[in-house]
Amino acid sequence: MDNRNQQAETRKAVIPFDNSYARLPAHFHASAIPTHVAEPWLIKFNRPLAEELGLDADALERDGAAIFSGNSIPEGAEPLGMAYAGHQFGQFVPLLGDGRAILLGEVIDRAGKRRDIQLKGAGKTPYSRRGDGRAALGPVLREYIVSEAMFALGIPATRALAAVVTGEPVYREQVLPGGVITRVAASHIRVGTFQFLASRGDTDGLKTLADYVIDRHYPDLKSSDRPYLDLVKAVVERQAALIARWLCVGFIHGVMNTDNCAISGETIDFGPCAFLDAYDPTKVFSSIDRGGRYAYASQPAIGQWNMARLAETLLPLIDPEPSEAVSLANDVIAGFGGLFQAHWLDGMKAKIGLFTEEDGDLDLVQGLLTAMHQGGADFTLTFRALCDAAESADKDEALKALFATPHQIEAWLFAWRERTGREPLSDAETAAKMRAVNPAFIPRNHRIEQAIRAAEDDGDFSLFEALLTVLARPYEDQPGFAAYTAPPLPQEEVLRTFCGT
Ligand code: AMP
Ligand code: MG
Repeated sequence: MDNRNQQAETRKAVIPFDNSYARLPAHFHASAIPTHVAEPWLIKFNRPLAEELGLDADALERDGAAIFSGNSIPEGAEPLGMAYAGHQFGQFVPLLGDGRAILLGEVIDRAGKRRDIQLKGAGKTPYSRRGDGRAALGPVLREYIVSEAMFALGIPATRALAAVVTGEPVYREQVLPGGVITRVAASHIRVGTFQFLASRGDTDGLKTLADYVIDRHYPDLKSSDRPYLDLVKAVVERQAALIARWLCVGFIHGVMNTDNCAISGETIDFGPCAFLDAYDPTKVFSSIDRGGRYAYASQPAIGQWNMARLAETLLPLIDPEPSEAVSLANDVIAGFGGLFQAHWLDGMKAKIGLFTEEDGDLDLVQGLLTAMHQGGADFTLTFRALCDAAESADKDEALKALFATPHQIEAWLFAWRERTGREPLSDAETAAKMRAVNPAFIPRNHRIEQAIRAAEDDGDFSLFEALLTVLARPYEDQPGFAAYTAPPLPQEEVLRTFCGT
């Protein structure tokens, strides 16, 4: 082996950190060093993401077990926990913070965007309270699968760079293998970050944070006459768009607390999240959501509530006259519903192949949802079967078979054909456009559960790998993976999901 090769082989993994959050005032964060673990092992490394971040994928993969467990801290990292507050199920908690997450630092990706690299489950931080700062392997795999699936679906979400097992147990109701996920986000600033400063009456800190957020996520607002009001507006716009996207794929976040609502507009925190199988707007999976606060169809109203909590924190910056600040903020928050509705209707219309505008379109969309609810039809399969039906009425039978009785959809199908007949595109073109927005594959709960069981019980990661493979191309028919389109058998159905904390 010549010298150069040897050098290449022993090259240390270098991450070109540029840590702006660490430079914000000291009370915004606290230093937090990952706790050493016994025997880390790299389960999964996301090479394409590493490359997107401009990182040395070979070196990172080679040293991955040490780096992504927190055992080895790359040069330039400034590990810290971020301080935040939050409304949890409507109850305000003035200090939460990263209790089991450690921000290693930030990098500038190939597109010039600043991205956070964070370890989740790497040990205690000053914000851990009574928690152990650890994550069980199951929730690590769930977050890896679902966040990457969201990305492939085209929905803004944090990403998964790596997953490791720690070789150490974590103690929940049972003893479980421990894991760490490395999460990449546009930032980890939440509504709760603003609430943390507001609840301390720290207006200077709020201004510093708001200016930082504008600079990092909404630079166009730098020249605005009312930057802080416009910041609320911009976050409202992204949240409304995001939640519309969730509803269009049947996603239930599960724990939309203000500390789990990212200012960047990305989906964050995949604890008890789940996708609908049969369509039911009142559906709740999370074991801790007893009142159904975060049910599927309640998500837009909760999004608006969260935005009101954000606006409250910024009132002193919005206008020196309190009544004027409230009035301006109220107008922005009141606009959430209309923005959401417009995004949602556009998304749902595209799902049924409507790309022009007519008066009855909303009713037609709602008519289908009502029929699906009554007929117990699977959300994802119905829309995918509708793509086939758009191409040829020969395929209607497969669609009808998804309903408890065919007549539950027949009248609707008739009205839909009449309406799509007035669309300018050919049937084949319409079907192709519909297939690009109606996934064949979603991360179904029972499949995630099976992947977790195999990994936790038998150390078998093949189901996890297969799920990642199939979910990377959700809009393509992948005949080899046809079984992954199927809803659960009654005995496979997942009734409850857990935060995993
Ligand atoms: P989550 O339910 O993941 O949004 O977390 C809510 C709060 O609980 C956050 O402040 C977390 O950092 C904290 N937390 C959750 N799990 C743990 C844990 N195992 N150890 C310490 N803190 C935790
Ligand atoms: Mg959280």
